[in-house]
Amino acid sequence: MPYDLHTHSIASDGTTSPGDVVRAAAAAGLTGLALTDHDTGAGLAEAAAVAREVGVDLVPGVEISTALRGRSVHLLGYGDITTGTDLETVLRGTVSSRLGRLRLIVRRLQAVVPSLELADVLARVPQGVTPGRPHVADALVAVGAVGSRDEAFVELLAEDSPYYVGYRAPQLLDTVRMVAAAGGAAVVAHPGSRSAVDVLDDGAVAGLAQAGLVGLEVDHRDHDAPTRDRLRGLARDLGLLATGSSDFHGAGKRNEIGENTTDPEVTEELLSIVRPGVPG
Ligand code: AMP
Ligand code: FE
Ligand code: FE
Ligand code: ZN
Repeated sequence: MPYDLHTHSIASDGTTSPGDVVRAAAAAGLTGLALTDHDTGAGLAEAAAVAREVGVDLVPGVEISTALRGRSVHLLGYGDITTGTDLETVLRGTVSSRLGRLRLIVRRLQAVVPSLELADVLARVPQGVTPGRPHVADALVAVGAVGSRDEAFVELLAEDSPYYVGYRAPQLLDTVRMVAAAGGAAVVAHPGSRSAVDVLDDGAVAGLAQAGLVGLEVDHRDHDAPTRDRLRGLARDLGLLATGSSDFHGAGKRNEIGENTTDPEVTEELLSIVRPGVPG
């Protein structure tokens, strides 16, 4: 009964509709999935409706952009936490900062790709969609500057490129507390990924666990075998759940839905936090 606990739709930087993400999960034989778009729950209503239709279990979620010591760390928040909560206000701020930052990135890129137009980039992020570098990547592909999203990220959109601009995001520790206060379950997304790994040492993770962190995403494409072993051990030592997921982005990334999944017993524990009183 595997669950894929981390997927994206066109509500952020995925390329498939929320309903089609759910259909893809059903077609892959998954019992359930979490839709976890960056900084928004805008796709969740559609996903829930289709989940009922096709008979898979949808766990509401969001992948929250946070900051720790100047680095970007992604935090998965599970549960109905994106509306009517303090988190909702914070997410609005992040999305608005992301939009301003997109304009700045485009302006810088125009120095080397003059055919790149702001209007084309903005047309890719209608109201309600969380803007991100992948939308700029798609516009760069459209004008022929690069061949794919992947290629765009190698130089033009890389964090250490001269065209990169950051955005405002809440502190990781505060966000863990906010998710817990909203009745959700917080899990650090791909803690071994490039941006996060340097700042997420064992001590930092222990501090997060004390603040109410529930788990670490261990099985993820960005983690090699030694990284998974280290994270699994750390999760065990700190009493955290170890999850696994695909981080599916449709055609926007190689990640295939269900390529990594979470054990049924772990999913059940997570769901007992998100859905108290509902027997698994
Ligand atoms: P941003 O949040 O705007 O800084 O952009 C980061 C997002 O870009 C991440 O959420 C990834 O999903 C996506 N991303 C990073 N690297 C790549 C890549 N090589 N190909 C496609 N998407 C990527
Ligand atoms: Fe993404
Ligand atoms: Fe992420
Ligand atoms: Zn993700």
